[in-house]
Amino acid sequence: MEETLRRPTCPHCASYRVVKNGSVQGRQSYLCRRCYHRFLPDAKRPNHPPTLKHRARDLYQQGWNVTAIARHLGVAIPTVWKWIHRH
Ligand SMILES: [Zn+2]
Repeated sequence: MEETLRRPTCPHCASYRVVKNGSVQGRQSYLCRRCYHRFLPDAKRPNHPPTLKHRARDLYQQGWNVTAIARHLGVAIPTVWKWIHRH
């Protein structure tokens, strides 16, 4: 779980499904497995778009469980928990 939290997220689609992709100018770069966007992890902390948050809550109200929502939206499970339980 800790490992997941420390991993960078894709600044393009906010997915946690990223892999190391060599280095650029001495810095570790990552490749997003979801949208194939390449990025450097410390390039600005990505924010999840509010629409994603609303979508997660909608799905939760429709009876989806947190794991399914996280997988569907490509977001980490703790993040979904936070969205649903903080108002
Ligand atoms: Zn992406």
